[in-house]
Formats: sequence, C-alpha cells, structure tokens
Amino acid sequence: MKISEIIKKKKTFSFEFFPPKEESQNESFAKNLKDLIPLKPDFVSVTDTGYSAAKYKHLALSMLLKEKAGFDVILHLTCLNSTKREIGTVLEKAKAAGIENILALRGDPDPNREILPGDFSYASDLIKEINLSHFCAGAAAHPEKHPLSASLNEDMSILKMKADLGVSFFITQLFFDNSVFFRLRDDLAKNNIFVPLIAGIMPLASPLSLLKIEEKTGKISKPKALIEIMEKYSQDKESFFKASVEFSINQCEELLSKGTNALHFFTFNKAKAVKEILGAIK
Ligand code: FAD
Repeated sequence: MKISEIIKKKKTFSFEFFPPKEESQNESFAKNLKDLIPLKPDFVSVTDTGYSAAKYKHLALSMLLKEKAGFDVILHLTCLNSTKREIGTVLEKAKAAGIENILALRGDPDPNREILPGDFSYASDLIKEINLSHFCAGAAAHPEKHPLSASLNEDMSILKMKADLGVSFFITQLFFDNSVFFRLRDDLAKNNIFVPLIAGIMPLASPLSLLKIEEKTGKISKPKALIEIMEKYSQDKESFFKASVEFSINQCEELLSKGTNALHFFTFNKAKAVKEILGAIK
C-alpha cells in the first residue's frame, strides 16, 4: 500500500531498519525483528548505502520484510555516486517485487572512500527519475537545517522544489527538541507546502551514539532534560537507557498531543526501546 494512503489514518507508527552489516549480526536482527512484528507498525523503511555490493542488500531486506513479515515497505534510495542506469535497475527490481514506496535521498559522501562519478547531485535529481504514477515517493526534511544549507530558508526552498516535483510525504531527520519540529511544520504551511510531515524519532542508546550521528547531521538541539540524563548517567548504561526511553515517551506524547499523527522510529535494529515507548503511548 502507498504511504500517501496509510498516513490518512488518524495515527501511524513506523520503524526504520538497516541491513545488518556483517553475517554475524543476522541472528540478532532476526530476534529483534521477531519482537517488533507484534507491534504491528503501519509501515517500515529500509536504509540504503551508496556503495558497491551493500547497495542491493537493502532491496533484498525490503523484499523479505514485505513477503515474510507482511509489512508495507519504504525503500530508501540514495543517488550520490550512482548512474541513471543503476538507479533505473533498482527501481525496476523494486517494482517487480511489489514495493510501492521510495524515500528519495541524496546520501552522504563517505570520507573514507573515493567519490565515484555519478549522474546525480541532489535528491531532487533522483525524484525526477522516479515514475510517480507507480511509486509513492517521499523525501527527507531537516528540522534543524541540513548542515550544508546556508539557512532554514534555503532548506524550505528545497522542500518546495521536492513538493512541486510530486513527493507525497517528508520524513524528518531525528530531533529531540519538539519546538524545531513544530517550527518546520508551521513554516511548511506558511509556504503553502501541504505535504504530510512524518516525525523521525530516535531513542538514544548512549551519549556516544549521538556524537557519531552528529558528525553527519550537524548539531542537534538537546532540551535541558536530555542534557541532564546524558550527564547524570554517562557511566551507567542501564539507568541511561531507562531515562532515555522515558524522555522519548514524553517527546512522543507531546508530539501526539499537538497534532502530529505520524511517528517514525529509527530503531537501529533494536526492539527494546521502541517496544517500551509504544507500550506507553499507543
Ligand atoms: P538533498 O535534498 O539533495 O540536500 C542536500 C543539500 O543540498 C542541502 O544542503 C540542500 O539544501 C542542497 N540542495 C538540495 N537540492 C539542491 C539543488 N537542486 N540545488 C542546490 N542545492 C541543493 N542517508 C543514507 O546514506 N542512506 C539512507 O538510507 C538515509 N536515510 C535517511 C532517512 C531520513 C529520514 C533522513 C532525514 C536522512 C537519511 N539519510 C540517509 C541521510 C541523507 O542522505 C543526508 O542527510 C544527506 O546529506 C542529505 O540528503 P537529502 O536527501 O536531504 O539531500
């Protein structure tokens, strides 16, 4: 089913997965997936990587999640370093597998790898390659500005371009301070962009995991409550996890109470935190 149809429901909860990097991680992935299936997400998404053999792992995992777990799937598709022919092949395979949703992304250059010549510079170039009469396409939105953008206004003009090209939903980059999400939601409306906005939620596993993420996303605002958790429990994994889940529950409750009906959880292939959060808010 297309995401544009699914998100007409009153509330949706969805999960993001990534293909396990090593074979040794498959068992843990299967176990966590088994724990997440009973939560009946409204849809799931599978991340992409721009490089070599790994590129097609996400297509294989998407097909598995669709066929074996019965999920509606969004296939993330990055375009940096890709040729039109390569992208065309992935889209053909996705269509043949019955996948109806694509999250069209630029991707990030990997500093440890050579940049290969490709046909795409931006996500908008990719959106133009997607047959929107078959696929429902979405795009990324960055509530705190993409690190390469000069301003929030520049980001807004890119979102307008993506909306005009026909995307049917935006999923946000993770955020912890709900005010940045509400600002983005208001700014979209002020600019007459009425594409549904899905909130990207990440339960924080450890203070260190955030440092790594911020290398890519740029600085993410942290409310005082989260800073206190990070300081107080920096050496106590179990207490940190408990407090972090509590923080996410409060974050989601505020979003839901203020009219945000679509929450997308960056699960990092782990079930425990999402299970506890959904247990509290669903
Ligand atoms: P773009 O929309 O192309 O924007 C990138 C930069 O270029 C911005 O500064 C923008 O302002 C500027 N720009 C865009 N279009 C133009 C234009 N036409 N002219 C001039 N400037 C322009 N990465 C992965 O590798 N794999 C994933 O699976 C993945 N999933 C993600 C899921 C979500 C929900 C989000 C929010 C991000 C995800 N990312 C993923 C990360 C994403 O690839 C990076 O954030 C990337 O740096 C930007 O992607 P984008 O699609 O927003 O890029």
